[in-house]
Amino acid sequence: IELIKTSAMSLMKTINDILDLSKLDARKLELTEETFNIKDLIRDLVTLFSMEAAKRKSTISYSFTEGFPNWIKGDPYRLRQVLNNIISNASKFTQDGKISIELDYKIESHDLVTIDINVSDTGIGISKSEIPKLFEDYKQAENNIAKEYGGSGLGLSISKKIIDLLKGSISIESEIGEGTTVHIDFQCKLSKKPEVNNRIFVSHSNNSLNALIADDS
Ligand code: ADP
Repeated sequence: IELIKTSAMSLMKTINDILDLSKLDARKLELTEETFNIKDLIRDLVTLFSMEAAKRKSTISYSFTEGFPNWIKGDPYRLRQVLNNIISNASKFTQDGKISIELDYKIESHDLVTIDINVSDTGIGISKSEIPKLFEDYKQAENNIAKEYGGSGLGLSISKKIIDLLKGSISIESEIGEGTTVHIDFQCKLSKKPEVNNRIFVSHSNNSLNALIADDS
């Protein structure tokens, strides 16, 4: 069952990547602009990957510089997709090591901020000559990577196309055997905690424990 599940998930990831790639190439991918809590998004991702990292005897941590904003305006789903890919690579290629996510910011004007994110790992690293090609579609660092670690070489090219849509930048620094740091930055608007946007209705009858939970997404 575990094998079927892993194979299905890996197939789903490949299909979703190919769909995203063709959408991006056809310039049909539109970003949403909504207020979201970027600190919560990072904490969620760290929670999500901490079990996977632990399986490889690695630890994962994050830090925000003081005063880092909570609420920004942007596309939380696509930012999550980019970070998901970068953190999943860091976790996949790091055995018995450390993964750290550092977030910094620079206020540009009263409502504009530049967000800087570094995802560093102490994993296998990438040779300098291989780095530029990793942003191309279907490219992996070495020929035997797919055999050993899986993947399709689409994650970083999709991430770069999304970061380009955000008019930001993405770069990699790495040393074979030492580890890798992926850096992204982009500008976005500062925002405020939204007014109550979820309404929860709770009603219960005396002695039954039936629950109907509905949400609109
Ligand atoms: P995938 O991981 O699906 O192969 P990506 O585009 O996300 O595709 O990554 C492309 C390649 O870049 C990987 O196959 C690997 O060779 C290299 N790579 C990316 N991140 C790392 C990392 N943190 N450490 C070592 N190699 C990496």
